[in-house]
Amino acid sequence: MRVAIDLYSDTKTRPTRGMREAIAEAEVGDEQHFEDPTVDRLVERAATLLGQEAAVFLPSGTMANEIAILVHCRPGDELIAHADAHILNFEGGAAAALAGVMVRPVAGDKGMFDGQTLSEAIRPDRRHLPRSRLLSIEQTTNLGGGAVWPLQLTDDVLATARSRGLATHLDGARLMNASVASGVGPERIAAGFDSVFLDFTKGLGAPFGAILAGSAAFINEAWRWKQRLGGSMRQAGMLAAGCLYALDHHVERLAEDHANARLLADELAGANGLTVERPETNMVFIDVGATGLSAEEFNARLLQHDLRVSIQGATRLRAVTHLDVTREQIFLAAQAMRTVAASAGGASGDRAA
Ligand SMILES: *Cc1c(COP(=O)(O)O)cnc(C)c1O
Repeated sequence: MRVAIDLYSDTKTRPTRGMREAIAEAEVGDEQHFEDPTVDRLVERAATLLGQEAAVFLPSGTMANEIAILVHCRPGDELIAHADAHILNFEGGAAAALAGVMVRPVAGDKGMFDGQTLSEAIRPDRRHLPRSRLLSIEQTTNLGGGAVWPLQLTDDVLATARSRGLATHLDGARLMNASVASGVGPERIAAGFDSVFLDFTKGLGAPFGAILAGSAAFINEAWRWKQRLGGSMRQAGMLAAGCLYALDHHVERLAEDHANARLLADELAGANGLTVERPETNMVFIDVGATGLSAEEFNARLLQHDLRVSIQGATRLRAVTHLDVTREQIFLAAQAMRTVAASAGGASGDRAA
């Protein structure tokens, strides 16, 4: 489906002309024999960017998360993650299907939790119990509202994980959004984690590619799983060139997406029946319950205005700003949302507040 304004996700971007040119002109070789100079360049650059010893290039973020789980865990081990985590909800049950790993969900505001919550979820070391083995957190939190984990909080959970012998993984699908929004460098955000994944197909606007980084020993094992899962490629420099282009041209501009998300939230403030969460990065979550419409019905009516968002609950919608959304389109999107809310004839703005 193509709509004029697509706020469904930051995965909906199309590669720019400059990126397509970089992809077309990429110098290539056989990636799985380390003969692709463009992939080699990307891997080195990403490892440095994330402050890790080594990195591996993968076709998708899901493969990066699952390889991290496969390397860190043995069948029967337990992974601790927020109940809203991508790993739990959107990876087809791969932690169970591929790694034989149990996932222990924990609760917390905006997709985050503290060391105390983590500590309570870690099992005592007894043979009747699954072995708690891995902590994974998201930066930014996706269903948590695109929130940025403050450093004190990541330091807190990392200290708890370390003291209890857990390995740690950072699902950094939108790590660069977190960095741009907080002004904290990516290497500091990733510091202390045993593995880190960064996606190029979200706000960075590339058509494919993800990086998984960690120690040299970790990446060596990750390569084994990349091979087993069919993720070893050939002239993958064509993919890597888009990712390098994204690092050169699409990082600082993430601030525009964040400004557009704030603009959308501001434009919707006080709209009839809409409760809008204050965005920290490029996601705006909107509860439409007080309009009397379901999220599904509200979205269907937005489609008639040539605007698409995503449904994230019975009355919860998510609008994501990205490279292919202009400031002018944000005004149009807000207007369409206000029109749909006003026509719904639900509660007044006062009651919704
Ligand atoms: C999109 C996403 C992933 C998976 O990345 P893909 O490249 O789509 O496979 C993992 N974690 C989070 C938080 C995501 O948003």
